[in-house]
Amino acid sequence: GSVFAHLVQAPEDPILGVTVAYNKDPSPVKLNLGVGAYRTEEGKPLVLNVVRKAEQQLINDRTRIKEYLPIVGLVEFNKLSAKLILGADSPAIRENRITTVECLSGTGSLRVGGEFLAKHYHQKTIYITQPTWGNHPKIFTLAGLTVKTYRYYDPATRGLNFQGLLEDLGAAPAGSIVLLHACAHNPTGVDPTIQQWEQIRQLMRSKGLMSFFDSAYQGFASGSLDTDAKPIRMFVADGGECLVAQSYAKNMGLYGERVGALSIVCKSADVAGRVESQLKLVIRPMYSSPPIHGASIVAVILRDKNLFNEWTLELKAMADRIISMRKQLFEALRTRGTPGDWSHIIKQIGMFTFTGLNPAQVSFMTKEYHIYMTSDGRISMAGLSSKTVPHLADAIHAVVT
Ligand code: PMP
Repeated sequence: GSVFAHLVQAPEDPILGVTVAYNKDPSPVKLNLGVGAYRTEEGKPLVLNVVRKAEQQLINDRTRIKEYLPIVGLVEFNKLSAKLILGADSPAIRENRITTVECLSGTGSLRVGGEFLAKHYHQKTIYITQPTWGNHPKIFTLAGLTVKTYRYYDPATRGLNFQGLLEDLGAAPAGSIVLLHACAHNPTGVDPTIQQWEQIRQLMRSKGLMSFFDSAYQGFASGSLDTDAKPIRMFVADGGECLVAQSYAKNMGLYGERVGALSIVCKSADVAGRVESQLKLVIRPMYSSPPIHGASIVAVILRDKNLFNEWTLELKAMADRIISMRKQLFEALRTRGTPGDWSHIIKQIGMFTFTGLNPAQVSFMTKEYHIYMTSDGRISMAGLSSKTVPHLADAIHAVVT
């Protein structure tokens, strides 16, 4: 018999498993609102025009080679990524006290940052929001950290439990690591206001808590790259240290290219240099060095003023379409007289709406309406279109009445 005969069938990933189930459904009206990937009004995946242009430039350049990148990745990409998230005028960049390494999208950046902290930071506990993206607890546990949660979402208001958040962070042991969603919180779509961010910053600095920002949606929340980076820039402006994981999956539509960056802002250039040397020791035995193509696309776009401007317009168009889907769904429920307060659909931010539907209701909608979503009631607004909004509204109406 096989030496693996004792293995039990592992469950599908709770998020990616939604697509597996969707693909098996032969219904013509089926709708996949599970995975957080942008779709056009026609329901198709989108490759940005600027990405096509950048790829053409790369292909036309016959001097380009396919040698290994350094362990830290494409150096120009790293510099441009730091500038994008921290701002061109960032004191940390000016003082050269930041290290940035190219990683395998947001997930890889979180994992490398997690392992670095587990190895070199005095506190091994990371606090994550309750609830959060399902992969967070697994990433940080396997990185060697102890995962605890802090209160974040209030089901009663479908908004932020700010009091609970302050209490939990206030009670965390000094020096604990805190994971913060930079914008467009996944799965709730609920972000702190700038005033609340300032209170969080003051509390965290006064307790010496270490901030680790997860920035998977820069530009996707508000449509503006600078607005969505504001919370991070507040934490850098005070001169303190922090980590930032960036992903280009959503905002450049580079999902499968796996391109992202981990930045560690330090207090001096000297420390940043030593941090980088240790990051290389984390990366080398993990995957040796990152891929070249996605980072090259990003570098072409970020370095060229015209392409950059074109990108911001395409990004804004994606963000605007999502915001318009929120309005259309809200209106469709209003028109149907669906019982309940659905204003959270237009108040929440980013790719997802946390509907408040429970697992039984979700399962009913999948069975009767062929609508697929995660069992926590999270729907991807990016997967909706004007054509599919009525079907979703019918299903929600049916399940709550
Ligand atoms: N963090 C959050 C909050 C996310 O929603 C995602 C994507 N679903 C990621 C990180 C990482 O995604 P990727 O590895 O594709 O960049």
